[in-house]
Amino acid sequence: MSRKDGQNGTLFSAVPAGLACDIASPGIKTPDCFHSVSARLRELRLILFRLICIVRAMSPPEIKTSPLAAPACRDEATPALRRPVTSLWGVGGERAAQLARLGIVTVEDLLLHAPRRYEDRRHFRKISELTKNEPFTARGTIVAQGLKRFRGGNKSVFEFVLDDGSARLHCRWWNLPFMEKYFEVGDEVFVFGKLVETKPRTMDHPETEVIEGGEESFIHINRIAPVYPLTEGLPQRWLRGLIWRTLDKFVAAPRQSAANFPEWNKFDERIATLCRDAATVPARANAVHMVHFPEELTDVEIARRRLALDEFVELQIQIRSRRKKFEASAKALPCGGDNRLMKPFLAWLGFKLTGAQTKVLREIRADMGGAHPMRRLLQGDVGSGKTVVAACSALMALESGFNAVLMAPTEILAEQHFRNFQKWFEPLGVKVEMQTGSRKTSNAEHRTSNIERMADHASRITHHASLFIGTHALFTAGFDLPTLGLVIIDEQHKFGVAQREQLVRKGNYPHLLVMTATPIPRTLGLTLYGDLDVSVIDEMPAGRGRVKTFIRTAEKLPKVWEFIREKISAGRQAYVVYPRVEEQDTANDIKAVTKEFENVQRALAPFKVGLLHGRVKSAEKEQVMAAFRANQIQSLVATALIEVGVDVPNATVMLIENAERFGLAQLHQLRGRIGRGAHESFCILISDAKSEEAQARLRILEETNDGFKIAEADLKLRGPGELLGREQSGMPKFRFGNLVDDLDLIRLARELVAKSL
Ligand code: ADP
Ligand code: MG
Repeated sequence: MSRKDGQNGTLFSAVPAGLACDIASPGIKTPDCFHSVSARLRELRLILFRLICIVRAMSPPEIKTSPLAAPACRDEATPALRRPVTSLWGVGGERAAQLARLGIVTVEDLLLHAPRRYEDRRHFRKISELTKNEPFTARGTIVAQGLKRFRGGNKSVFEFVLDDGSARLHCRWWNLPFMEKYFEVGDEVFVFGKLVETKPRTMDHPETEVIEGGEESFIHINRIAPVYPLTEGLPQRWLRGLIWRTLDKFVAAPRQSAANFPEWNKFDERIATLCRDAATVPARANAVHMVHFPEELTDVEIARRRLALDEFVELQIQIRSRRKKFEASAKALPCGGDNRLMKPFLAWLGFKLTGAQTKVLREIRADMGGAHPMRRLLQGDVGSGKTVVAACSALMALESGFNAVLMAPTEILAEQHFRNFQKWFEPLGVKVEMQTGSRKTSNAEHRTSNIERMADHASRITHHASLFIGTHALFTAGFDLPTLGLVIIDEQHKFGVAQREQLVRKGNYPHLLVMTATPIPRTLGLTLYGDLDVSVIDEMPAGRGRVKTFIRTAEKLPKVWEFIREKISAGRQAYVVYPRVEEQDTANDIKAVTKEFENVQRALAPFKVGLLHGRVKSAEKEQVMAAFRANQIQSLVATALIEVGVDVPNATVMLIENAERFGLAQLHQLRGRIGRGAHESFCILISDAKSEEAQARLRILEETNDGFKIAEADLKLRGPGELLGREQSGMPKFRFGNLVDDLDLIRLARELVAKSL
């Protein structure tokens, strides 16, 4: 250990140089004449503390009772980062269990546990200067406290009064009587929160930390202090102390690159070889130090970005090597086609492909005639015409003598595709087969396994390749068609990455085309679908009517019904959507939507209204849809079930009740059901939501029809998890990476890895 930073007022090179300055002049500002004396005292205290640390580090770790304390932890051969947290001084079984709840099992997990926020404990606002609704940290002394019970002792409020010399602040906790145990009059406390009242100044349920003296107090006060996500029973102070000591033990001074972790060297080497301006990027160990104990708040973002870049690079390396391995092991089936079927198909289609559709088809043809199996994502906003592209791709495989499979997320959509493809393909002499849970189109009905039956069928017709259409669920179980050339997955956002992998691993590596209308913000696209090539249909077919969107309160419903009746009288059709009755919903919900159905029937009489939700039987669903398509039913009351894919161009009005209960992307999808014909369309969002956030979200829909803009806004408002839904099992988790803001880093990571692999 060197003593280089002795001039900084410390003898410990392991204390980061920058932080050493902090440590050398901590605390309550003292008049100059006292400075040298108090500084010396502090120095002595630090030396003492350091000695204690050294002694602790030398003494054997305490006996562990936790199952997490694997024998390997004593093994000096285990790299420091991989050792369990129980190998650290002061971490016993109970603490280890608490840390595990935060996902912290190893020393590395601990070092990468990112603070939730920071408190600048060098400067405090006076309590007298605080304003309402703005979060702040105050520091003061408890001058009074007490617990009051009411409602026969069932309810309670604990309160203390904090005084910082400028004014007093009341801090209250409702129905948490045990809070009383944690505080005493005379305690010095940090509180963080928002004022809910100004007379007297009051905060409800602020975050608190009692200031304790002692050897480690410099870790917590007079600095920018990290505030970590916690779990029940784990004190903020304890965790902060543990992280400080762990950094102190393992990580060399910031601004020097070496850490005591060979495992981290690869990260730095990667940046050094890949980045042109690597010198401006902090070393990983530095960044870790800075992210916990920054000298200035601006350091946090520099450090976070470095650590985020490491995460994105790791991910891209995984993605790329998976892809490379795949390409090395999988040979493509020749499915480029010869236009034999495509030519007549396009001639009879009744419209010309858009430029975007043609461009995308060229990309697909190059893949399907290429050396490696296609792995392509087709993105296109709702109504941009992805189905025709799917049809052309299927024809390429069929022309080449291979079968194709098209999977849809719902039976309704599968049925719709079946009808379309039958209409398109049967005149070409191509057989289209339907496979859903409730319906089969072949004669071999006695067979129990659809998959078996398909394989059998496929082997019989090697020369007459067919298109099979069905739901995702039917195909996930596994399939192994020997002559399967192409798998098309429609509306991929309903479908996890893991499922996708499972699907195409089987068989002879068919080509894969994944279609999604959920515009995926580019950050997600590059991470979630990083292993796919991307094609985008960025142009709508000509001759589409505009879609106008309005937000109305429930109070305005009578006028809205009048408006809808007018449109129906003029020959159009309408959807009425309720946010309920998914498959798992309760009998209560069904009653509610059935009741709404009666209301709508009354409101729209004498026009006919149909009902569609997850619990309606398949055959009945199909009947209702058929009647709606034929305009025997003028209005359809439905749940979000119709969100994907349904295509009835004459429907031009959509009324969505309780619109705030849907996600933005979902509303955009729903709205995509209208505006499909030449007539002007109207989407009316009914919402009584008062919150500014809910209103802001709905306004985005009013303002734009651009799916990408909506998706980015949704991502900002709700975060990636919510946006994609829980079924996105393959969603990578980042500790530092931020899918809302880090597009530049994700791109950089992709470029860097592309250069090196
Ligand atoms: P999505 O991309 O949402 O799946 P669809 O494939 O359902 O969209 O297409 C929406 C509608 O647009 C369909 O009725 C389809 O026949 C029609 N369509 C597709 N391509 C064109 C085109 N090039 N010109 C005119 N209409 C088109
Ligand atoms: Mg579609």
